[in-house]
Amino acid sequence: VKGSFKIGTLFGIGVYLHFTFLLLLAFFAWAELQATGSVVAAAETLLFVGALFLCLVMHEYGHALTARRFGIKTKDITLLPIGGVARLERMPDKPWQELLVAIMGPMVNVVIAILIVGSLSLKYGFGEVAGSLWPLRSIDDSFWMDLARINILLILFNMLPAFPMDGGRVVRSLLAMVLPYERATAVAALLGKGMAVLFFLEALGLNAVPFIHGEHNILLGFIAVFVWIGAGSEARFAMLKSRLHSIPVSQAMVSNFRTLSPRDTVEWAGELAMSGLQHDFPVADEGRVVGMLFKSQLEAALARQEPYLRVSDVMVDQVPTVTSSDMLEDVMTAVIASGLPIVPVTSRGLLVGLLPIERLLTPPGPGSAAGVRPLGRSAEDRMI
Ligand SMILES: [Zn+2]
Repeated sequence: VKGSFKIGTLFGIGVYLHFTFLLLLAFFAWAELQATGSVVAAAETLLFVGALFLCLVMHEYGHALTARRFGIKTKDITLLPIGGVARLERMPDKPWQELLVAIMGPMVNVVIAILIVGSLSLKYGFGEVAGSLWPLRSIDDSFWMDLARINILLILFNMLPAFPMDGGRVVRSLLAMVLPYERATAVAALLGKGMAVLFFLEALGLNAVPFIHGEHNILLGFIAVFVWIGAGSEARFAMLKSRLHSIPVSQAMVSNFRTLSPRDTVEWAGELAMSGLQHDFPVADEGRVVGMLFKSQLEAALARQEPYLRVSDVMVDQVPTVTSSDMLEDVMTAVIASGLPIVPVTSRGLLVGLLPIERLLTPPGPGSAAGVRPLGRSAEDRMI
């Protein structure tokens, strides 16, 4: 995610912090300092946000390590002010696996809350601690009480039965055990949208949701928008996935194209680009893909006006390739995640075609292009 920097690696997964999270941290410390004039109180606030941050990271690891058990890698974990995001390579296909991956995040917070409430109960007695959780009543260890409370809030928020929250995935995976995947997603998305509407009415002060009262209006409005968008993109993704079902890459790829050699000059590549309709070129050495030269790099390289510049000097050399016999639904996530407009297609290790990303979004076949809206890159593989 842009604007994030790495703070460490745990279990082979990089953990990133978005800079706005630091701004938030600074703001809370400053607000506390303004309110109390006490540096100690400000430091305590920082400590609390730090502890919250740890809880969020552990929540994401709950998803990531469960996914790992099913052979799914996690690219990274990023902390944003709205919460953590784990970027999974893909979601598991089997409903019971998706159920476990989704539920193990909130379960981490359940464990944390139980541990805190349990240890405080040893000191104050369970009745006293439970009674202080709600309504807010302070006991001496207010730091730990607040941390328990915020973990409980995280559980409730995450288990809302709506995408992109974990609860939405739980509902979808349960439905997918008895319905086709696409149908299950549609029903779960509809449920999420219904909830978004209720939240929105509540945010307007109409008291549409029982037990919630008008204090957190702006927050509710924000959640409503978040849920509405999440429901839409999840439904589109499922639709696309089922549309790509059992179409091989060979049927969607472009097989009429020009190839560059890594030893070709950039000037020659420029001439090729001028003469034809092709803007992005695969670079191959004796038929084996060694890179891609995209329009933007070619233009930048031509602007340098160095006649002896070679294609190998300016090409992208780490490009993912797909195999012509792969099914589109299986390569879709990797291709979208690569962020490249086109990926090379190989057969027995040799370059045979190009797969432009548009072909995934509007696959060939009867009744395909109708109604497919572009897919947000963020839609599919993120666990909040
Ligand atoms: Zn989660």
